[in-house]
Amino acid sequence: MAAVKKIPMSTPLVEMDGDEMTRVIWKMIKEILLEPYLELNTEYYDLGLEYREATKDQVTIDAANATKKYGVAVKCATITPNADRVKEYHLTQMWKSPNGTIRAMLDGTVFRTPIVVNGITPFIPSWKKPITIARHAYGDVYKNVEMAVGENCKAELVVTAPDGSETRQLIHEFTTPGVIQGQHNVDKSIGSFARACFNFALDSRQDLWFATKDTISKTYDHRFKDIFADIYEAEYKEKFTAAGIEYFYTLIDDAVARVVRSEGGYIWACKNYDGDVMSDMVATAFGSLAMMTSVLVSPDGVYEYEAAHGTVQRHYYRHLKGEKTSTNSVATLFAWTGALRKRGQLDHNDALCAFADKLEQATVRTIEEGVMTGDLASLSSLPNKQTVDTEAFLRAINERLQQSL
Ligand code: NAP
Ligand code: MG
Repeated sequence: MAAVKKIPMSTPLVEMDGDEMTRVIWKMIKEILLEPYLELNTEYYDLGLEYREATKDQVTIDAANATKKYGVAVKCATITPNADRVKEYHLTQMWKSPNGTIRAMLDGTVFRTPIVVNGITPFIPSWKKPITIARHAYGDVYKNVEMAVGENCKAELVVTAPDGSETRQLIHEFTTPGVIQGQHNVDKSIGSFARACFNFALDSRQDLWFATKDTISKTYDHRFKDIFADIYEAEYKEKFTAAGIEYFYTLIDDAVARVVRSEGGYIWACKNYDGDVMSDMVATAFGSLAMMTSVLVSPDGVYEYEAAHGTVQRHYYRHLKGEKTSTNSVATLFAWTGALRKRGQLDHNDALCAFADKLEQATVRTIEEGVMTGDLASLSSLPNKQTVDTEAFLRAINERLQQSL
């Protein structure tokens, strides 16, 4: 094959390397599918657990700051340490989840979208297009306080104003033992969430659905509904009309019923808990965690792309023993293409955007022509499917990519 002229990149992409099997895949993707075609310009941060330990996690903070500076990042899956990992990696501390640190620094909202391919039918067969879940990543039950209450106790909500005056509301007079819970959220975070959702809808030209339980929660959930409505009216209504898309609010139970009957092809914004539950439901119903992409979007328009799955630890241990694994690289690859396309859009680099499109098309074509990793082969209804190992799958994509360039 004649040498390809490599596509230049004017601005660096923030590259966050990670752990275990996904770190192995990361290197293969770069060598097989990116470096032959791009003058890959990245600012590299090693978020692998060894280097997080060596830098006392400063590298995660540096990577998040670089993301703010350049606007686009791509991240490999990383280990969130637990007690076992502290022993395994001889850690001096149980470092926090890198995703949690980055999300807090960027004040972002996470959007998760399944990659839909022919031959893998969602468990809900009417779903033809992907459903993107946008999960509010702050507050509610994730920042709650809870108490057990004994018999014959009175529980009250008390709010103390700056002047010391108190507002009280009775929660319950307990005659028998029970439990109580205090939750909060803040208008600023809800507003950021709303703007991230409206921006993402405009960016991807899809309708936005939002649902809460405001008929029951007349102050708390109603605040979410009002903030979304106010921001929509003031800042987005005209843009949505011009883009031919719709913002639509309904009750959460009505939303669930509509989602199940829908064709897909929209963004479903969820409060924190609803998003936790519904994203697992949507991911599972679409088929595979390994086909779920994820992007963190900050209210000021910074993007960080990753796969929704973890480091695929069990496969990594087999890889270390010298066995060939059949690990699915699609979500990690789409994190790269998402980031490259966004970089291309911001830099008006059409060649880079076109490359990202072609790489995604080549990936989908590979699976639809029957070449896939084991996790997909067990789901695919194609008659002539062929299960390949991790590297062979990437090489099969490369053959098709070369044909299309
Ligand atoms: P996981 O890495 O997502 O893997 C769970 C299982 O799902 C795997 O054992 C595998 O099943 C299957 N799977 C997931 N991704 C796959 C892929 N690309 N190809 C094929 N099969 C795939 O979750 P985990 O085992 O719970 O977590 C492992 C580590 O990842 C943990 O240290 C956790 O902290 C970290 N994690 C990181 C992130 C992140 O950085 N965003 C997210 C979640 C978890 P089989 O083994 O049955 O084949
Ligand atoms: Mg969950």
